[in-house]
Amino acid sequence: MLRAALFDFGDTLFRRAGEARAIVELGAEMDCPIDPDAAEAIWRRIHERAKSPEEIARARDLSPEAHRREWTRLFSMADVLVPGMGRALYDRETDPEKWVPYPDTVECLERLAARDVPVAVVSDTGWDIRSVFSTRGLDRFVRAWVLSYEHEAVKPAAGLFEAACRELGVPPDESLMVGDNPTTDGGAVAAGVPTLILPQVAPGAPRGLSCVERLLFGD
Ligand SMILES: [Mg+2]
Repeated sequence: MLRAALFDFGDTLFRRAGEARAIVELGAEMDCPIDPDAAEAIWRRIHERAKSPEEIARARDLSPEAHRREWTRLFSMADVLVPGMGRALYDRETDPEKWVPYPDTVECLERLAARDVPVAVVSDTGWDIRSVFSTRGLDRFVRAWVLSYEHEAVKPAAGLFEAACRELGVPPDESLMVGDNPTTDGGAVAAGVPTLILPQVAPGAPRGLSCVERLLFGD
């Protein structure tokens, strides 16, 4: 029986506000109109590159310094549109207000809380994402935080998922990991944690988190 839930953060519970529109908005602030299609193309290239094993191997989530350096480099792919865009995108990346929960995130967390299912967030991050949750009053739903830069390890390291289960006091085989990236979030399997990898959804669509409730509660 599954009785605890471990969640990834980015692209699982929260997404970046506006996504590619961020480039258009920042361009307007910088007095440089940017074609939305060009912004979309660059945005996709940045995030496809960011998810590649080569980029993940650069250990950007082991310290705040590495995070700033590596993400600014990735975002600087957008400097072809406007010089300085990379740095502006990095500042936005670490602004808690610029991350939004998916339409079904709050409902999912509320339903787990209503059934006393303890929740952990297991995230590869180089900055303190607790502020994203607290900004929206959602930190009360999270009992344990396992953030890569505080543990000096990144996913798929099994130790991160084991630490989350330990902090929740629930054995790995009675916990469920929920994420979006098979390479990183899939590491939970090596820790003995049943794992759900959610496919990407269209912008604005629910994340598909009702699956989590069905797996835990069977309804
Ligand atoms: Mg993710």
